[in-house]
Amino acid sequence: MAPFRITPRFVERVWGSKDLRPWYDWQSDGEPVGEVWLTGDECLVETGPHAGQTLSALFARASEDLLGSGAGAPDSPLLLKVIFAKGKLSVQVHPDDKLAQKYGQPRGKTECWYALAAEPGAQVACGLKAGVTLDKVREGIHEGTLEESLNVLDVAAGNMIFVDAGTVHAIWPGSILLETQQNCDLTYRMYDYGRPRELHIEKSLEATRLTTKAGKVAAHVLSDRSILVDAEYFRVERIAVQGSRTGASLLGAGEPAHGLAYLFAAAGSGILCGDGFEPLELPARGVVAIPATSPQFVIEDRGGLDLIRFTPNWPSRA
Ligand SMILES: [Zn+2]
Repeated sequence: MAPFRITPRFVERVWGSKDLRPWYDWQSDGEPVGEVWLTGDECLVETGPHAGQTLSALFARASEDLLGSGAGAPDSPLLLKVIFAKGKLSVQVHPDDKLAQKYGQPRGKTECWYALAAEPGAQVACGLKAGVTLDKVREGIHEGTLEESLNVLDVAAGNMIFVDAGTVHAIWPGSILLETQQNCDLTYRMYDYGRPRELHIEKSLEATRLTTKAGKVAAHVLSDRSILVDAEYFRVERIAVQGSRTGASLLGAGEPAHGLAYLFAAAGSGILCGDGFEPLELPARGVVAIPATSPQFVIEDRGGLDLIRFTPNWPSRA
């Protein structure tokens, strides 16, 4: 299956923004958009013979072409988003695989945030302060003092923050975050600043771990790329294209030759050329899927390309 582009999907959120320029050519007087989904189940394939299908329909039909043999997932293992927060998101927690499966979902949600941009003073909340107990968390939810128990991180452009399942967390305004997460729908909202959205207090407490591995991750800098994070479920890399390079050269050390990858242009644009498919443009902030069975291709920098590459890490490989 040849590489194809996916149409980003703009998702309304109360805490979002009415103007996404210059990141996306989108503005509105109506409801704010908080999340741009790059690979959601409902996102549409934009190019090639499968154009117009949802990603979930394509995965359901052609999972082996996309993921390679034996991967065994009927949907995209990764959900990629760009988060535009004008207000504070809820304080929330996601379940791990085991807890998600108890509630009938295929997988939990470990995620990470890469800061594409950040204003001075931008912060996020990530994990509980040392010594905070579940009773203290419960008290904070009811008394509106939960923020006092949260570990706060300053965010600068280029930071990578890892947030494993079970970590109490909240995205706050001031940064534009590229989010990579396990493709899972379960968010347990703990506290929402009095907004009328539903809370899931008991489930959130069940999912909460008092200590986790969450926090900033230093990039592992190699000669041709920086590995921003290499975790249990995903690897995110920033790859120098410098003119052009082959698809094969994008593979990391020890990575199987035939697996799914997604490419994202954090800045600039590129073009993919290969046998059996029309030249495929990767526009700024656009995303291209590279199926496991993709023909050989070359990616060329069309000017200022800042290429981010995402691959699923299956638990057995990590
Ligand atoms: Zn989250």
